Amino acid sequence: MVDLITCLDPYDIFITKLKNAVDDIGDRIIPIVYSDIKHFKYFNDTYGYKLGDDLIAEFAELVCKDNSYITGARVVSDNIVTAGYVSNKIPRDDMLKHIRQVNDEIEEYLCKKFKCRRISIATGVYFITAESKDINVETAISNANFARKQAKESKDESVIFFDDTMAERINRELDILASIKDALSDKELMPYYQPKVNSITGLIEGAEALVRWRKPDGTFIYPDQFIPAIEKSGQITDVDYYMYEEVFRFIKNRLDNGEPIVPISLNVSRAHLTTLNIIGKIKDLLVKYPIPTEYVEFELTETSCMENPDSARQFIDAMHELGIKVSMDDFGSGYSSLNLLSEIPFDIIKLDRTFLKSKIPESKERIIISSIVTMSRELGMKSLCEGVETEGQSIFLKNIGCNTQQGFLFSKPIPQTEFEALLI
Ligand code: C2E
Ligand code: CA
Ligand code: CA
Repeated sequence: MVDLITCLDPYDIFITKLKNAVDDIGDRIIPIVYSDIKHFKYFNDTYGYKLGDDLIAEFAELVCKDNSYITGARVVSDNIVTAGYVSNKIPRDDMLKHIRQVNDEIEEYLCKKFKCRRISIATGVYFITAESKDINVETAISNANFARKQAKESKDESVIFFDDTMAERINRELDILASIKDALSDKELMPYYQPKVNSITGLIEGAEALVRWRKPDGTFIYPDQFIPAIEKSGQITDVDYYMYEEVFRFIKNRLDNGEPIVPISLNVSRAHLTTLNIIGKIKDLLVKYPIPTEYVEFELTETSCMENPDSARQFIDAMHELGIKVSMDDFGSGYSSLNLLSEIPFDIIKLDRTFLKSKIPESKERIIISSIVTMSRELGMKSLCEGVETEGQSIFLKNIGCNTQQGFLFSKPIPQTEFEALLI
């Protein structure tokens, strides 16, 4: 039996052949090359599954063409892993150049054949050497896969070799996954609040809730250090929900005590958006903490909307029925599709902080930012710019009619008590 789409070895045969090859390694090395096509889902959605399968088949054949090839398999979807012998005399830099070149050729060929604008391959490599030949081959493959994911996330390197710093990262991620559940039940996670300021009045008109993890020893773990790991494991939805509950309770307490409060926005992770019971969970929270819905907002990232436009639309429609506003977060940071803006009825566009490059925005920056602000206004959406750090940026944004600003110029994300002190 072979893999039906690619004619490669089935995965279990791949493992057996790889184990045998490792036994015979001698003084050679075996690079495990793990590749996939970036945005393959987009290709599938645009060109259809039949062509998607053809692309995988062709891709697999080309990836496996190298002369030292021993075996190759399709692990899942468009993920192809191959293994072959290479002399230990070949410098790693030369191998890197070689794989980049092979990938470039495959990309060019596939683009022509499938008549699409761009195909990019992400590749991760793990080297089994005579010294490391006792490694479990499944671990070696998952290391190569880990390097591939780094390559997929990286903006400037599409081929990445696994190294020791990645091994440390894997261990850190495993620690996080093992401890997040207890951290939630022990309330080590908490919302910090970053004010949003009205460009004209300079007053706080809202805030974004951002998660912070405070360890019992008082040290903090920031979202960028733990969210990627728990996104992969799916536990991000627990964290999101925990944050929603903390914030709903906070708003209700303020209102019950007759204290002032502003709308608070909450982040919706990509994984959460596709599990549509998120809508049911939000409705349940509104029953448990009955608050006027104008006090909560949700933020969907541009990337997760691009990946799941139907779920995004369903989510927004449901929120609008409840009277809750939704913003498009990190606008401009991903593969922006202006179409998305006309198709999905966002209330607010949050311009990603990477738009603000200079302390006083220079001409090209000004043109780009003001065009987006004008476009949002004409589409009936409000605009908010993130990452405002200087007076010069703030004045510029006010002058071009950007409604709201958020950034270190006004405040970093702060603990609840500090935030409450600002609400007078
Ligand atoms: P984000 O939603 O884009 O949040 C804004 C991030 O930008 C925050 O980082 C904030 O501290 C940072 N920031 C704000 N103003 C400035 C500025 O003027 N300059 C610079 N350089 N940075 C600024 P943080 O809190 O580390 O959060 C990082 C990301 O983690 C967030 O990006 C969001 O994607 C994610 N995140 C945070 N909390 C949650 C959560 O509760 N649930 C989910 N799903 N994601 C969260
Ligand atoms: Ca956000
Ligand atoms: Ca953002």
